[in-house]
Amino acid sequence: MTHNRANGALACAWCGFSGALQRLSDHVHISNAQLAMQHTVWRCPQCEGATATAPWGAELRFRYRVIEYRRRWRRSVWVAIYEVTCAWCGAQESEALEINVTVANPVSERLRYDVYGCRRCGRATALSYLGALRTHRAVRDAYYDALWYLDPDDSVA
Ligand SMILES: [Zn+2]
Ligand SMILES: [Zn+2]
Repeated sequence: MTHNRANGALACAWCGFSGALQRLSDHVHISNAQLAMQHTVWRCPQCEGATATAPWGAELRFRYRVIEYRRRWRRSVWVAIYEVTCAWCGAQESEALEINVTVANPVSERLRYDVYGCRRCGRATALSYLGALRTHRAVRDAYYDALWYLDPDDSVA
């Protein structure tokens, strides 16, 4: 996600193409957006990537890389992909592993988490995105694969 000046040209969040993006819809719900509001989604003619935007006041807009998961008979699910810095090694080479995971020790019950995997060190970083982006070192539970812990003690990691 980046904040853009709302009056600037909209660039593709994937490849930076700033020509005319194709407007797909103004009423898209993004599963893991920072703002609980409907977003406008644009398709890039150059890389085919989708970019979602939402206005924030008069000056700024939120902009995300988004991916569409098509479902039979049901509306597509749209998911934001954030640029995440690895909380273990600091590399900026992370890719989304799981969206909206179950965390045993969330900072707040209100927060939801996505998990990203680092291509450099192979470890996982959990991201919470409501309001602000925050990252934590993350480890899977030893027994339950679907359960994650934030910021484990060094003895556990
Ligand atoms: Zn593009
Ligand atoms: Zn790493």
